[in-house]
Amino acid sequence: MDIHQLLQEQKNYFSLQQTKNISFRKNCLIKLQKELIKKESDIIKALYNDFKKSEYEAILTETSIVLSELKMTIDKLNSWAKPERVLPSLLNFPSSAKIYKEPYGNVLIISPWNYPHQLAFAPLIGAIAAGNTVVLKPSELTPNTSAITKEIIESVFSKEHVAVVEGGVDVSEELLNQRWDYIFFTGSVPVGKIVAKAAAEHLTPVTLELGGKSPCIVDKTADIKLAAKRIVWGKFINGGQTCIAPDYLLIHKSIKNEFVNYFKDELTKAYGDNPENSADFPRIVNAKNFNRLALMLEKETFLTGGKTNKEDNYISPTLIDEPSLESEVMKGEIFGPILPLISFENEEKIEDILSKYDKPLAFYIFSTDKKIVKKMIKKHSFGGGTINDTTVHFVNHRLPFGGVGESGIGGYHGKKTFDTFSHSKGVVTRGNWLDLTIRYAPYTDKLKKLRALLKWT
Ligand code: NAD
Repeated sequence: MDIHQLLQEQKNYFSLQQTKNISFRKNCLIKLQKELIKKESDIIKALYNDFKKSEYEAILTETSIVLSELKMTIDKLNSWAKPERVLPSLLNFPSSAKIYKEPYGNVLIISPWNYPHQLAFAPLIGAIAAGNTVVLKPSELTPNTSAITKEIIESVFSKEHVAVVEGGVDVSEELLNQRWDYIFFTGSVPVGKIVAKAAAEHLTPVTLELGGKSPCIVDKTADIKLAAKRIVWGKFINGGQTCIAPDYLLIHKSIKNEFVNYFKDELTKAYGDNPENSADFPRIVNAKNFNRLALMLEKETFLTGGKTNKEDNYISPTLIDEPSLESEVMKGEIFGPILPLISFENEEKIEDILSKYDKPLAFYIFSTDKKIVKKMIKKHSFGGGTINDTTVHFVNHRLPFGGVGESGIGGYHGKKTFDTFSHSKGVVTRGNWLDLTIRYAPYTDKLKKLRALLKWT
Protein backbone atom coordinates (compact mmCIF):
# COMPACT_ATOMS: atom_id res chain seq x y z
CA MET A 1 0.00 0.00 0.00
CA ASP A 2 1.24 3.47 -0.85
CA ILE A 3 1.06 5.14 2.56
CA HIS A 4 1.73 8.63 1.27
CA GLN A 5 -1.12 8.25 -1.25
CA LEU A 6 -3.46 6.91 1.45
CA LEU A 7 -2.76 9.88 3.69
CA GLN A 8 -3.29 12.24 0.78
CA GLU A 9 -6.71 10.65 0.17
CA GLN A 10 -7.55 11.06 3.87
CA LYS A 11 -6.46 14.71 3.76
CA ASN A 12 -8.76 15.32 0.77
CA TYR A 13 -11.58 13.52 2.51
CA PHE A 14 -11.14 15.55 5.71
CA SER A 15 -11.22 18.77 3.72
CA LEU A 16 -14.75 17.88 2.52
CA GLN A 17 -15.86 18.64 6.14
CA GLN A 18 -18.17 15.64 6.32
CA THR A 19 -16.54 14.32 9.51
CA LYS A 20 -17.43 17.62 11.20
CA ASN A 21 -21.08 16.61 11.12
CA ILE A 22 -22.05 15.09 14.47
CA SER A 23 -24.87 12.91 13.08
CA PHE A 24 -22.45 11.51 10.51
CA ARG A 25 -19.96 10.60 13.24
CA LYS A 26 -22.69 9.05 15.38
CA ASN A 27 -23.98 6.94 12.50
CA CYS A 28 -20.45 5.70 11.82
CA LEU A 29 -20.06 4.70 15.47
CA ILE A 30 -23.43 2.92 15.48
CA LYS A 31 -22.39 0.97 12.37
CA LEU A 32 -19.12 0.07 14.07
CA GLN A 33 -21.01 -1.03 17.18
CA LYS A 34 -23.22 -3.38 15.13
CA GLU A 35 -20.21 -4.87 13.36
CA LEU A 36 -18.27 -5.38 16.60
CA ILE A 37 -21.22 -7.15 18.20
CA LYS A 38 -21.69 -9.31 15.07
CA LYS A 39 -18.00 -10.26 14.96
CA GLU A 40 -17.44 -10.76 18.69
CA SER A 41 -16.87 -14.50 18.41
CA ASP A 42 -14.36 -13.98 15.57
CA ILE A 43 -12.47 -11.49 17.73
CA ILE A 44 -12.40 -13.96 20.64
CA LYS A 45 -11.14 -16.71 18.31
CA ALA A 46 -8.41 -14.44 16.94
CA LEU A 47 -7.22 -13.59 20.45
CA TYR A 48 -7.06 -17.28 21.32
CA ASN A 49 -5.11 -18.05 18.18
CA ASP A 50 -2.66 -15.24 18.89
CA PHE A 51 -1.67 -16.20 22.45
CA LYS A 52 -4.23 -18.63 23.85
CA LYS A 53 -6.21 -15.90 25.57
CA SER A 54 -9.31 -17.48 27.12
CA GLU A 55 -12.83 -16.52 26.01
CA TYR A 56 -13.55 -15.19 29.50
CA GLU A 57 -10.54 -12.86 29.56
CA ALA A 58 -11.19 -11.85 25.94
CA ILE A 59 -14.66 -10.64 26.94
CA LEU A 60 -13.64 -9.18 30.32
CA THR A 61 -10.54 -7.29 29.17
CA GLU A 62 -11.13 -6.63 25.49
CA THR A 63 -14.57 -6.76 23.85
CA SER A 64 -16.66 -5.59 26.82
CA ILE A 65 -14.37 -2.59 27.40
CA VAL A 66 -14.54 -1.56 23.74
CA LEU A 67 -18.32 -1.95 23.59
CA SER A 68 -18.80 0.02 26.78
CA GLU A 69 -16.56 2.90 25.54
CA LEU A 70 -18.47 2.83 22.27
CA LYS A 71 -21.91 2.90 23.89
CA MET A 72 -20.97 5.76 26.17
CA THR A 73 -19.43 7.73 23.29
CA ILE A 74 -22.56 7.30 21.16
CA ASP A 75 -24.78 8.35 24.08
CA LYS A 76 -22.70 11.37 25.06
CA LEU A 77 -21.35 12.58 21.73
CA ASN A 78 -23.84 15.44 21.35
CA SER A 79 -23.02 16.93 24.73
CA TRP A 80 -19.24 16.39 24.40
CA ALA A 81 -19.13 18.02 20.95
CA LYS A 82 -21.32 20.99 21.85
CA PRO A 83 -19.52 24.35 22.10
CA GLU A 84 -18.99 25.01 25.79
CA ARG A 85 -19.99 28.45 27.05
CA VAL A 86 -17.58 29.89 29.63
CA LEU A 87 -17.70 33.12 31.65
CA PRO A 88 -16.44 36.12 29.65
CA SER A 89 -13.59 38.31 30.89
CA LEU A 90 -14.58 41.69 32.29
CA LEU A 91 -11.75 43.22 30.24
CA ASN A 92 -13.69 42.25 27.11
CA PHE A 93 -17.00 43.70 28.28
CA PRO A 94 -19.43 43.31 26.56
CA SER A 95 -18.72 39.82 25.22
CA SER A 96 -19.49 36.12 25.37
CA ALA A 97 -16.95 33.26 25.23
CA LYS A 98 -17.11 29.68 23.99
CA ILE A 99 -14.80 26.69 23.58
CA TYR A 100 -15.32 24.91 20.27
CA LYS A 101 -14.13 21.30 19.94
CA GLU A 102 -12.64 20.72 16.52
CA PRO A 103 -11.02 17.61 15.07
CA TYR A 104 -7.24 17.74 14.60
CA GLY A 105 -7.59 16.23 11.12
CA ASN A 106 -5.58 13.17 10.11
CA VAL A 107 -4.72 10.90 13.01
CA LEU A 108 -2.28 8.01 13.25
CA ILE A 109 -2.86 5.33 15.92
CA ILE A 110 -0.16 2.71 16.56
CA SER A 111 -1.20 -0.07 18.92
CA PRO A 112 0.57 -2.89 20.79
CA TRP A 113 -0.06 -6.63 20.94
CA ASN A 114 -0.87 -7.25 24.59
CA TYR A 115 -4.54 -6.19 24.51
CA PRO A 116 -4.61 -6.04 20.73
CA HIS A 117 -8.34 -5.50 20.32
CA GLN A 118 -9.00 -3.07 23.15
CA LEU A 119 -5.91 -0.91 22.69
CA ALA A 120 -6.62 -0.47 18.98
CA PHE A 121 -10.36 0.24 19.21
CA ALA A 122 -10.57 2.35 22.40
CA PRO A 123 -8.53 5.26 20.98
CA LEU A 124 -10.02 4.72 17.51
CA ILE A 125 -13.54 5.30 18.83
CA GLY A 126 -12.51 8.64 20.35
CA ALA A 127 -10.66 9.73 17.23
CA ILE A 128 -13.71 9.05 15.04
CA ALA A 129 -16.09 10.61 17.57
CA ALA A 130 -13.99 13.78 17.51
CA GLY A 131 -14.30 13.93 13.71
CA ASN A 132 -10.84 12.88 12.55
CA THR A 133 -9.76 10.52 9.81
CA VAL A 134 -7.68 7.62 11.12
CA VAL A 135 -4.93 5.30 10.01
CA LEU A 136 -4.58 2.48 12.52
CA LYS A 137 -1.51 0.26 12.63
CA PRO A 138 -2.11 -2.77 14.83
CA SER A 139 0.75 -4.89 16.16
CA GLU A 140 2.34 -7.45 13.85
CA LEU A 141 2.84 -9.79 16.84
CA THR A 142 -0.88 -10.61 17.02
CA PRO A 143 -1.62 -11.23 13.31
CA ASN A 144 -5.02 -12.87 13.81
CA THR A 145 -6.40 -9.93 15.79
CA SER A 146 -4.79 -7.54 13.33
CA ALA A 147 -6.57 -9.31 10.44
CA ILE A 148 -10.01 -9.24 12.08
CA THR A 149 -9.47 -5.57 13.00
CA LYS A 150 -8.83 -4.78 9.33
CA GLU A 151 -11.85 -6.80 8.24
CA ILE A 152 -14.15 -4.97 10.68
CA ILE A 153 -12.86 -1.52 9.77
CA GLU A 154 -13.11 -2.19 6.04
CA SER A 155 -16.71 -3.31 6.33
CA VAL A 156 -17.72 -0.11 8.16
CA PHE A 157 -15.56 2.71 6.80
CA SER A 158 -14.25 3.96 3.49
CA LYS A 159 -10.46 3.90 3.52
CA GLU A 160 -10.39 7.70 3.08
CA HIS A 161 -12.06 7.94 6.48
CA VAL A 162 -10.58 5.06 8.50
CA ALA A 163 -7.96 2.60 7.26
CA VAL A 164 -5.97 -0.21 8.84
CA VAL A 165 -2.39 -0.56 7.68
CA GLU A 166 -0.87 -3.84 8.80
CA GLY A 167 2.82 -4.48 9.19
CA GLY A 168 5.88 -4.35 11.41
CA VAL A 169 8.60 -1.88 12.21
CA ASP A 170 9.30 -0.90 8.57
CA VAL A 171 5.63 0.00 7.99
CA SER A 172 5.52 1.84 11.31
CA GLU A 173 8.59 3.84 10.32
CA GLU A 174 7.10 4.74 6.98
CA LEU A 175 3.91 5.88 8.69
CA LEU A 176 5.92 7.98 11.13
CA ASN A 177 7.70 9.68 8.23
CA GLN A 178 4.41 11.29 7.14
CA ARG A 179 2.94 14.52 8.42
CA TRP A 180 0.03 13.73 10.77
CA ASP A 181 -2.13 16.10 12.77
CA TYR A 182 -2.10 13.83 15.82
CA ILE A 183 -0.29 10.62 16.79
CA PHE A 184 -1.59 8.27 19.46
CA PHE A 185 0.92 5.58 20.39
CA THR A 186 0.63 2.70 22.86
CA GLY A 187 3.73 0.59 23.42
CA SER A 188 7.16 0.47 24.98
CA VAL A 189 9.24 3.38 26.28
CA PRO A 190 12.04 3.02 23.67
CA VAL A 191 9.59 3.03 20.75
CA GLY A 192 7.67 5.86 22.42
CA LYS A 193 10.84 7.95 22.15
CA ILE A 194 11.13 7.10 18.42
CA VAL A 195 7.51 8.21 17.94
CA ALA A 196 8.09 11.45 19.88
CA LYS A 197 11.13 12.27 17.74
CA ALA A 198 9.24 11.64 14.50
CA ALA A 199 6.32 13.74 15.73
CA ALA A 200 8.64 16.60 16.72
CA GLU A 201 9.78 16.89 13.09
CA HIS A 202 6.33 18.31 12.22
CA LEU A 203 5.40 19.58 15.71
CA THR A 204 2.65 16.97 15.73
CA PRO A 205 0.94 16.57 19.13
CA VAL A 206 1.19 13.09 20.64
CA THR A 207 -0.28 10.86 23.25
CA LEU A 208 2.21 8.26 24.43
CA GLU A 209 0.76 5.39 26.46
CA LEU A 210 3.91 3.62 27.65
CA GLY A 211 5.01 1.22 30.37
CA GLY A 212 7.36 1.04 33.32
CA LYS A 213 8.04 -0.73 36.57
CA SER A 214 4.87 -0.45 38.66
CA PRO A 215 5.44 -1.16 42.36
CA CYS A 216 3.02 -2.97 44.65
CA ILE A 217 3.48 -2.30 48.35
CA VAL A 218 1.92 -4.50 51.04
CA ASP A 219 2.34 -3.14 54.55
CA LYS A 220 1.77 -4.98 57.80
CA THR A 221 -1.72 -3.52 58.29
CA ALA A 222 -3.00 -5.00 55.01
CA ASP A 223 -5.67 -7.68 54.71
CA ILE A 224 -3.03 -10.22 53.70
CA LYS A 225 -5.29 -12.98 52.33
CA LEU A 226 -7.30 -10.57 50.20
CA ALA A 227 -4.13 -8.81 49.05
CA ALA A 228 -2.67 -12.13 47.87
CA LYS A 229 -5.86 -12.96 45.96
CA ARG A 230 -6.06 -9.56 44.25
CA ILE A 231 -2.35 -9.49 43.40
CA VAL A 232 -2.51 -12.98 41.85
CA TRP A 233 -5.42 -11.84 39.69
CA GLY A 234 -3.91 -8.51 38.58
CA LYS A 235 -0.45 -9.94 37.96
CA PHE A 236 -1.35 -13.09 36.06
CA ILE A 237 -4.32 -11.98 34.01
CA ASN A 238 -3.26 -11.96 30.34
CA GLY A 239 -0.23 -14.02 31.41
CA GLY A 240 1.26 -10.98 33.17
CA GLN A 241 1.47 -9.14 29.85
CA THR A 242 -0.34 -6.05 31.14
CA CYS A 243 1.16 -2.56 31.17
CA ILE A 244 -0.34 -1.84 34.60
CA ALA A 245 0.34 -5.26 36.16
CA PRO A 246 2.21 -5.03 39.47
CA ASP A 247 5.83 -5.33 38.36
CA TYR A 248 7.45 -5.99 41.74
CA LEU A 249 6.26 -6.55 45.29
CA LEU A 250 7.47 -4.74 48.38
CA ILE A 251 6.24 -6.66 51.43
CA HIS A 252 6.71 -5.94 55.10
CA LYS A 253 9.08 -8.58 56.49
CA SER A 254 6.73 -9.51 59.35
CA ILE A 255 3.99 -10.71 56.99
CA LYS A 256 6.11 -12.18 54.20
CA ASN A 257 5.67 -15.89 55.05
CA GLU A 258 1.94 -15.58 55.63
CA PHE A 259 1.56 -13.65 52.37
CA VAL A 260 3.56 -16.22 50.38
CA ASN A 261 1.38 -19.06 51.69
CA TYR A 262 -1.83 -17.25 50.74
CA PHE A 263 -0.30 -16.35 47.37
CA LYS A 264 0.41 -20.01 46.57
CA ASP A 265 -3.12 -21.01 47.68
CA GLU A 266 -4.64 -18.36 45.44
CA LEU A 267 -2.53 -19.44 42.49
CA THR A 268 -3.65 -23.04 42.87
CA LYS A 269 -7.26 -21.96 43.20
CA ALA A 270 -7.01 -19.90 40.01
CA TYR A 271 -4.94 -22.14 37.74
CA GLY A 272 -4.78 -25.56 39.46
CA ASP A 273 -1.66 -27.52 40.42
CA ASN A 274 -0.18 -27.14 36.95
CA PRO A 275 -1.08 -23.79 35.29
CA GLU A 276 0.25 -25.17 31.99
CA ASN A 277 -2.92 -27.27 31.80
CA SER A 278 -5.24 -24.43 32.73
CA ALA A 279 -7.46 -23.12 29.92
CA ASP A 280 -7.39 -19.74 31.65
CA PHE A 281 -3.65 -19.10 31.58
CA PRO A 282 -2.33 -17.51 28.35
CA ARG A 283 1.05 -17.97 26.69
CA ILE A 284 3.88 -15.50 26.09
CA VAL A 285 3.21 -13.83 22.76
CA ASN A 286 6.34 -14.99 20.91
CA ALA A 287 9.75 -16.65 21.24
CA LYS A 288 11.58 -13.32 21.54
CA ASN A 289 9.58 -12.33 24.61
CA PHE A 290 9.78 -15.88 25.98
CA ASN A 291 13.60 -15.75 25.79
CA ARG A 292 13.68 -12.28 27.34
CA LEU A 293 11.61 -13.53 30.30
CA ALA A 294 13.42 -16.88 30.63
CA LEU A 295 16.66 -14.94 31.12
CA MET A 296 15.10 -13.24 34.17
CA LEU A 297 14.58 -16.63 35.79
CA GLU A 298 18.26 -17.59 35.65
CA LYS A 299 20.12 -17.41 38.97
CA GLU A 300 16.95 -16.64 40.96
CA THR A 301 15.29 -18.44 43.88
CA PHE A 302 11.60 -19.23 43.45
CA LEU A 303 8.96 -19.14 46.14
CA THR A 304 6.70 -20.75 43.54
CA GLY A 305 6.80 -21.36 39.78
CA GLY A 306 9.90 -20.92 37.65
CA LYS A 307 8.82 -23.52 35.08
CA THR A 308 9.09 -22.98 31.34
CA ASN A 309 8.18 -24.77 28.11
CA LYS A 310 9.93 -23.22 25.13
CA GLU A 311 7.87 -25.18 22.58
CA ASP A 312 4.68 -23.52 23.77
CA ASN A 313 6.09 -20.15 24.97
CA TYR A 314 4.88 -21.12 28.43
CA ILE A 315 6.20 -19.54 31.61
CA SER A 316 4.51 -20.55 34.84
CA PRO A 317 3.25 -17.93 37.31
CA THR A 318 6.41 -17.25 39.28
CA LEU A 319 7.25 -15.55 42.57
CA ILE A 320 10.95 -14.71 42.93
CA ASP A 321 12.44 -14.46 46.39
CA GLU A 322 14.43 -11.32 47.22
CA PRO A 323 16.23 -10.64 43.91
CA SER A 324 19.10 -8.18 43.89
CA LEU A 325 18.25 -4.75 42.46
CA GLU A 326 20.99 -5.36 39.88
CA SER A 327 19.40 -8.62 38.69
CA GLU A 328 17.85 -8.96 35.22
CA VAL A 329 14.32 -9.08 36.68
CA MET A 330 14.75 -5.76 38.50
CA LYS A 331 16.33 -3.90 35.58
CA GLY A 332 13.40 -3.01 33.33
CA GLU A 333 9.67 -3.65 32.99
CA ILE A 334 9.01 -7.41 33.31
CA PHE A 335 5.84 -7.70 31.22
CA GLY A 336 5.26 -11.39 31.90
CA PRO A 337 4.10 -13.77 34.67
CA ILE A 338 7.13 -13.19 36.90
CA LEU A 339 6.80 -11.32 40.18
CA PRO A 340 9.85 -10.45 42.29
CA LEU A 341 9.25 -10.12 46.03
CA ILE A 342 11.44 -7.84 48.11
CA SER A 343 10.81 -7.42 51.81
CA PHE A 344 11.21 -4.23 53.80
CA GLU A 345 11.36 -3.33 57.45
CA ASN A 346 11.00 0.41 57.25
CA GLU A 347 9.82 3.21 55.00
CA GLU A 348 13.39 4.20 54.08
CA LYS A 349 13.89 0.91 52.27
CA ILE A 350 10.69 1.45 50.24
CA GLU A 351 11.78 4.97 49.34
CA ASP A 352 15.25 3.77 48.45
CA ILE A 353 13.90 1.17 45.99
CA LEU A 354 11.21 3.41 44.48
CA SER A 355 13.77 6.14 43.87
CA LYS A 356 15.80 3.85 41.59
CA TYR A 357 13.08 3.79 38.93
CA ASP A 358 11.32 6.33 36.75
CA LYS A 359 7.77 7.46 37.45
CA PRO A 360 5.67 4.30 37.00
CA LEU A 361 2.48 3.86 35.01
CA ALA A 362 0.72 2.33 38.03
CA PHE A 363 1.15 2.26 41.80
CA TYR A 364 -0.45 -0.13 44.28
CA ILE A 365 -0.62 0.01 48.06
CA PHE A 366 -2.26 -2.62 50.24
CA SER A 367 -2.78 -1.06 53.65
CA THR A 368 -5.52 -0.20 56.09
CA ASP A 369 -3.49 2.68 57.50
CA LYS A 370 -5.15 5.68 55.85
CA LYS A 371 -2.37 8.04 56.94
CA ILE A 372 0.33 5.98 55.22
CA VAL A 373 -1.76 5.63 52.07
CA LYS A 374 -2.41 9.37 51.91
CA LYS A 375 1.26 10.13 52.45
CA MET A 376 2.42 7.72 49.71
CA ILE A 377 -0.10 9.03 47.17
CA LYS A 378 0.96 12.62 47.87
CA LYS A 379 4.66 11.89 47.83
CA HIS A 380 4.98 9.77 44.69
CA SER A 381 4.27 10.62 41.11
CA PHE A 382 2.68 7.86 38.98
CA GLY A 383 0.22 7.48 36.11
CA GLY A 384 -2.66 6.11 38.19
CA GLY A 385 -3.21 3.54 40.87
CA THR A 386 -5.40 1.51 43.16
CA ILE A 387 -5.43 1.14 46.92
CA ASN A 388 -6.09 -2.40 48.19
CA ASP A 389 -6.39 -3.88 44.72
CA THR A 390 -4.52 -4.03 41.44
CA THR A 391 -5.25 -2.69 37.92
CA VAL A 392 -8.93 -1.86 38.50
CA HIS A 393 -8.52 1.92 38.20
CA PHE A 394 -8.31 1.14 34.47
CA VAL A 395 -11.98 0.22 34.15
CA ASN A 396 -13.50 3.42 35.51
CA HIS A 397 -14.02 5.56 32.44
CA ARG A 398 -14.50 8.63 34.64
CA LEU A 399 -10.82 8.42 35.55
CA PRO A 400 -8.18 9.57 33.06
CA PHE A 401 -5.79 6.77 32.11
CA GLY A 402 -2.20 7.52 31.18
CA GLY A 403 1.36 7.81 32.37
CA VAL A 404 3.66 10.55 33.59
CA GLY A 405 7.36 11.05 32.96
CA GLU A 406 8.81 7.94 31.30
CA SER A 407 5.49 6.09 31.57
CA GLY A 408 3.76 8.39 29.10
CA ILE A 409 2.33 11.67 27.95
CA GLY A 410 -1.40 12.46 27.96
CA GLY A 411 -4.30 10.21 28.76
CA TYR A 412 -7.62 8.84 27.59
CA HIS A 413 -10.79 6.86 28.49
CA GLY A 414 -14.35 8.16 28.46
CA LYS A 415 -14.71 11.85 27.70
CA LYS A 416 -10.95 12.29 27.96
CA THR A 417 -10.53 10.24 24.77
CA PHE A 418 -12.83 12.62 22.91
CA ASP A 419 -10.95 15.62 24.33
CA THR A 420 -7.60 14.06 23.46
CA PHE A 421 -8.53 13.92 19.79
CA SER A 422 -10.09 17.41 19.75
CA HIS A 423 -8.45 20.78 19.62
CA SER A 424 -10.15 23.20 22.04
CA LYS A 425 -10.65 26.45 20.16
CA GLY A 426 -11.45 29.45 22.38
CA VAL A 427 -13.57 32.12 20.72
CA VAL A 428 -14.74 35.49 22.08
CA THR A 429 -17.71 37.32 20.53
CA ARG A 430 -17.68 41.03 21.30
CA GLY A 431 -20.83 43.12 21.65
CA ASN A 432 -21.01 46.20 19.48
CA TRP A 433 -23.38 48.24 21.65
CA LEU A 434 -20.57 49.54 23.88
CA ASP A 435 -16.86 50.17 23.29
CA LEU A 436 -14.99 51.07 26.48
CA THR A 437 -12.18 53.50 25.72
CA ILE A 438 -9.85 52.38 28.50
CA ARG A 439 -7.62 50.11 26.36
CA TYR A 440 -7.07 52.59 23.57
CA ALA A 441 -4.15 55.01 23.32
CA PRO A 442 -3.52 57.70 24.35
CA TYR A 443 -3.11 56.14 27.81
CA THR A 444 -2.68 59.46 29.64
CA ASP A 445 -4.60 59.49 32.95
CA LYS A 446 -5.94 55.93 32.39
CA LEU A 447 -3.52 53.93 34.56
CA LYS A 448 -5.46 54.45 37.81
CA LYS A 449 -8.68 53.28 36.16
CA LEU A 450 -6.89 50.28 34.62
CA ARG A 451 -5.50 49.23 38.02
CA ALA A 452 -8.99 49.50 39.55
CA LEU A 453 -10.45 47.41 36.74
CA LEU A 454 -7.69 44.77 36.99
CA LYS A 455 -8.62 44.23 40.64
CA TRP A 456 -11.96 42.87 39.44
CA THR A 457 -10.57 40.52 36.79
P1 NAD B 1 6.34 -1.99 21.11
O1 NAD B 1 6.73 -0.63 21.50
O2 NAD B 1 7.39 -2.96 20.76
O3 NAD B 1 5.34 -1.95 19.85
C1 NAD B 1 4.20 -1.12 19.81
C2 NAD B 1 3.92 -0.76 18.36
O4 NAD B 1 5.02 -0.04 17.84
C3 NAD B 1 3.69 -1.95 17.43
O5 NAD B 1 2.61 -1.65 16.57
C4 NAD B 1 5.00 -2.06 16.66
O6 NAD B 1 4.85 -2.53 15.36
C5 NAD B 1 5.51 -0.62 16.64
N1 NAD B 1 6.98 -0.56 16.65
C6 NAD B 1 7.84 -1.44 17.21
N2 NAD B 1 9.12 -1.04 17.01
C7 NAD B 1 9.06 0.11 16.32
C8 NAD B 1 10.04 1.01 15.82
N3 NAD B 1 11.34 0.79 15.99
N4 NAD B 1 9.63 2.10 15.14
C9 NAD B 1 8.31 2.35 14.96
N5 NAD B 1 7.33 1.52 15.40
C10 NAD B 1 7.69 0.42 16.08
O7 NAD B 1 5.42 -2.52 22.31
P2 NAD B 1 4.69 -3.93 22.47
O8 NAD B 1 5.72 -4.98 22.68
O9 NAD B 1 3.69 -4.14 21.39
O10 NAD B 1 3.88 -3.68 23.81
C11 NAD B 1 4.48 -3.80 25.06
C12 NAD B 1 4.79 -2.46 25.69
O11 NAD B 1 3.68 -1.60 25.59
C13 NAD B 1 5.09 -2.58 27.17
O12 NAD B 1 6.16 -1.72 27.49
C14 NAD B 1 3.80 -2.10 27.84
O13 NAD B 1 3.97 -1.59 29.12
C15 NAD B 1 3.36 -1.06 26.87
N6 NAD B 1 1.92 -0.88 26.95
C16 NAD B 1 1.43 0.28 27.47
C17 NAD B 1 0.06 0.44 27.60
C18 NAD B 1 -0.52 1.69 28.16
O14 NAD B 1 -1.73 1.85 28.05
N7 NAD B 1 0.24 2.58 28.75
C19 NAD B 1 -0.79 -0.57 27.19
C20 NAD B 1 -0.25 -1.73 26.66
C21 NAD B 1 1.10 -1.88 26.54
